[in-house]
Amino acid sequence: MTAVNGTAERGRSPAPLDSWLLERLACPRDRQPLQWQDGILCCPSGHRYPVVDGIPVMLIEEALPTHFMARYSLDHLSELIARQPQSDDDLLDFVRGSLTGTCGNLYRHARITADRLPIPDIRLPDVAGAPLLDVGCNWGRWCVSAARRGYRVVGIDPSLPAVLAARRVAARSGCAVHVIVGDGRHLPFRDGTFDVVFSYSVLQHFSPEDLRSCLADIRRVLVPGGQALVQMPNRFGLRNLLQQVRRGLRQARQFEVRYWRPSHLQRVFEHGIGPSTLETDGFFTLNAQRSDLDLLPMGAGLVVRLSEWLRAGSERLPWLRSLADSLYVRSSKVS
Ligand SMILES: [Zn+2]
Repeated sequence: MTAVNGTAERGRSPAPLDSWLLERLACPRDRQPLQWQDGILCCPSGHRYPVVDGIPVMLIEEALPTHFMARYSLDHLSELIARQPQSDDDLLDFVRGSLTGTCGNLYRHARITADRLPIPDIRLPDVAGAPLLDVGCNWGRWCVSAARRGYRVVGIDPSLPAVLAARRVAARSGCAVHVIVGDGRHLPFRDGTFDVVFSYSVLQHFSPEDLRSCLADIRRVLVPGGQALVQMPNRFGLRNLLQQVRRGLRQARQFEVRYWRPSHLQRVFEHGIGPSTLETDGFFTLNAQRSDLDLLPMGAGLVVRLSEWLRAGSERLPWLRSLADSLYVRSSKVS
């Protein structure tokens, strides 16, 4: 790849990869083990993946990407590394530009600073040292949340700028997080690597075919008994119904959100990973986090409070879940 040669020409010596991570990486094309050779990861069949500024870039060039940033990242590796956030202001600019995509429209006017980013509360127990993969990690908010609970976190995203931001957010938060550029349908890890695979506001953008490929690969990289926790949108959610009407009730195109019937979601996840249950995440929004109330304008805060009130109600009145906009699918890999 030209970008690798470019890195070498500048005389930059990429940092060696963490040995724990290197032992668990695999070729995303054929899943063979990888060897580190002068800043490049190579598999026995000759597939090569650059490591830029210590970050493995494990995208498959010939695969039709799920997101345009995959192609952009591959084509501009050296330039993107050179332009990565160097200051807190640069980092804040990146996070602000990504907030509505990662956290939803409620966060459009969130009052964030480099010391007060909206790090959510991940719905997982504290488990010291258990490997967790965050698929579509973007700027790394869930990576930090999981790391604070004791997980050994790997974040993967097709966007190099996003994982560069995630690395910096994690470092500022005092968390050790590995980041990789890669594709959720072709996870570059050996079988049975992770205790938990998490994903939020990402697989909702995949076509049904891409979702099935991603779930099959999530199953592959989970240990037996491992768990996946994936956020997905409910077709019958009150706000989602409005969104579908606004879209003219047509089929989703490209990266638009796919709205799933809960029963269909459950079947697809059970077939892809294993026994699955649905849980309420939120109403009228994504990512309603009571812990972020200090960051949000009053109107958005009221929506968060209402969402949280309804979510608590849905635990006593399960039919309420059928009206929730955002659901979690919790799936177990049995064997
Ligand atoms: Zn290979």
